[in-house]
Amino acid sequence: MKREAHPENWLQITPQGLYCRPGDFFIDPHRPVERAVITHGHADHARPDHHRVLATAETLAIIQTRYGDRAGHSFQALKYGESIELGETRVRLVPAGHVLGSAQVVVEWGGWRVVVSGDYKRRRDPTCAPFEVLPCDVFVTEAIFALPVFRHPPDAEEIHRLLHSVSVFPERSHLVGVYALGKAQRVIRLLREAGWDRPLFIHGALRPLCELYEALGVGLGELRVATEARGEDLAGEILLAPPSALADRWSRRFADPLPAVASGWMRVRQRARQRNVELPLIISDHADWQELTRTLEEVQAPEVWVTHGSEEALIYWCRLRGIRGRALSLIGRGEEEQEEVV
Ligand SMILES: [Zn+2]
Ligand SMILES: [Zn+2]
Repeated sequence: MKREAHPENWLQITPQGLYCRPGDFFIDPHRPVERAVITHGHADHARPDHHRVLATAETLAIIQTRYGDRAGHSFQALKYGESIELGETRVRLVPAGHVLGSAQVVVEWGGWRVVVSGDYKRRRDPTCAPFEVLPCDVFVTEAIFALPVFRHPPDAEEIHRLLHSVSVFPERSHLVGVYALGKAQRVIRLLREAGWDRPLFIHGALRPLCELYEALGVGLGELRVATEARGEDLAGEILLAPPSALADRWSRRFADPLPAVASGWMRVRQRARQRNVELPLIISDHADWQELTRTLEEVQAPEVWVTHGSEEALIYWCRLRGIRGRALSLIGRGEEEQEEVV
């Protein structure tokens, strides 16, 4: 492992995003590039108009569903664990446990192994493969919920609170704000696991990705587009919509709507209040503080690069343990937990 081959010298921040020089590719670039390796389909990682795109088959299908003609010029699918040569580097994708198809990008060059984890979580998700721990020399991580106050409760508890509310207010329509990619399908699967076998009503914007998940083998049960039902018929039912739809005209047609949102940010009461969320559900596709620190312990990387979020807290945690921490401050990240982009 040669010092001059240190990843700082060949995996660099450029105006387009994170660039791997010996492999001549970008990872999750935020501007169009010649060759992109994409960790997952959220819009803050997968942008349109790259020339060549390499990702898992599921992520490619998600990108094509979202961007159509602008998804890219040519596509290469890589299975989890399969490794290929890109330029002088060896590249592999391993599961990140974030959304369907999500992957960590493993890059090896000059005797160094770097893992770019994209977004990830460590708890079980019935809609995607679980995160795989891979020891490495440099681990690149997000830090969205990197404060000890962020401790996501078990998701089954949150689903139980939703179902309890439905039973207490049978005359109201429960409107649950969920991001179109990942959160929507996860919440649906969790509801099915909790025994809710009635039809679920969805906003039209959720339909393409729900259909894609079904086509890729993630069963969601019976879904109906909410606007095709009469508003008063939806009393006592559960509706899912992008968070932004909760505040717009779409939501007013339903019987005495009870707004809920499923997001890690619902831990922050003020955010829930600002958005008039009556029932905040803390369900996140991002690692909480415990999951982040546990992951850093397990991958045993002597060096950790933090892409975005609460960098300071995580870097301080690293320093106390003799791990070298470095803030990359990548721009444009973390949007899917803020607002739906596409
Ligand atoms: Zn994401
Ligand atoms: Zn993200």
